[in-house]
Amino acid sequence: MNSAMAIFTDTHPSKCQYTGNEWGWVQLETQDAILKLRELGARKILLQLPDGLKPDVFRYFTEFSREFSVIVSSDPFYGACDIGNQEVYGKVDAIVQLGHSVIPNIEYPLPVIFIEYRSGASVEIDPHIFDVLSQSGYTKIGLLASIQYMDHMEKVRQILAGSGYQVQAGKQDSRMAYPGQVLGCNFSAAHSISAWADCYVVVSTGKFHGIGAQLASDKPVYILDLNLRRLVPMADETDQFLRRRYARISRALDAHKFCVVVDTKIGQYRMKLASHIVKQVTDLGHEAVLITANDARPSDYENMRCDAVIFTGCPRVPIDEEDRFPMPVLTPPEFQSLFVTNDRGRYVMDEIVAVDRL
Ligand code: SF4
Repeated sequence: MNSAMAIFTDTHPSKCQYTGNEWGWVQLETQDAILKLRELGARKILLQLPDGLKPDVFRYFTEFSREFSVIVSSDPFYGACDIGNQEVYGKVDAIVQLGHSVIPNIEYPLPVIFIEYRSGASVEIDPHIFDVLSQSGYTKIGLLASIQYMDHMEKVRQILAGSGYQVQAGKQDSRMAYPGQVLGCNFSAAHSISAWADCYVVVSTGKFHGIGAQLASDKPVYILDLNLRRLVPMADETDQFLRRRYARISRALDAHKFCVVVDTKIGQYRMKLASHIVKQVTDLGHEAVLITANDARPSDYENMRCDAVIFTGCPRVPIDEEDRFPMPVLTPPEFQSLFVTNDRGRYVMDEIVAVDRL
């Protein structure tokens, strides 16, 4: 295996554009977004920044205000699945969203320009940290990354290929913008090469995407944690996650009254699924109410005196935010496995492939 030290120094990815649906573009630089806004004849725009980029809000506001009338949304938003409230976006000509990549199969009701955030961190990776893969007999490596680390993923591909591995970034489905890209709600890039890959390497920081990929696959998953500069196997973490999760959701087995929640964010809206679940709940002899919400507030469900919630919006809410809720909050597949199929054999991750039209 190659022993040279690789250093990631990229600060800017090459420019690219995506025009997969009527209103979705990927812009990687502010100037390109301004050109696109000019082309669209936009005058009023809404800026959406994730919390991590809000410290730069004055700079962005100043840049766009030279040509456009700008409103900044201070509401929290989590991804390209969320363009805020119609009362706000209905009053502008276009949205500029920072930090995320387009979700191609969402039908946005107005032009949304995405300025992606790609990590430009310079990270030194010793190729020997991948030796555990060859020692385990793995030769075919599936590569995955969250959007911030797509450029680092390419560097990792070069290191692995240079070390003699076969490497692929799996083909994504129509919810995702790039091969190999993962979201907390979609691991299609992993599924597409599941028969080929011996294991996966997820380029990221933190564990969520690694655990998600491990839950979505029966092949071993490793996180290449760029903060720790370590390759971390996800099997133990995933086992611990599953133990915690089953302990939490099994409390729903005694539930009689269920709130079935549809999130009204444009990229999380699964009304058909929620309606189907309401029917399943009532067919089982329990009570269910169908609820719409733009924000999952525990106090609402407490007020409604429900025993459990089935949440059809972002799967990170029931999983990442479970401690916020006093009652069990299930994903749709968790509900199916506990109440419909009674199949506890393999945990099924809630993945969003497509949503209903709002
Ligand atoms: S549904 Fe959740 S995981 Fe998927 S894009 Fe939206 S915020 Fe991210």
